[in-house]
Amino acid sequence: MKICPYCLQGEILNAKIIKTNEIIQICDECDTVWKSSEIISDKTGRALDLFMKHRNCSCSWREFEILKS
Ligand SMILES: [Zn+2]
Repeated sequence: MKICPYCLQGEILNAKIIKTNEIIQICDECDTVWKSSEIISDKTGRALDLFMKHRNCSCSWREFEILKS
């Protein structure tokens, strides 16, 4: 299990954005997002609302399908 480097308590989950089929990694606590290919670090994460706005999606968790890691 990967722990988020920002909030130090959330778990990083693999998820798929249903609308775009894009695989991302997301913290279940603070909603920080990384692309699937990115190394998880406190330098590379981005805020969910900005990330989703770029894709014309809302930042609701209903936009995601959580994948088993
Ligand atoms: Zn977090």
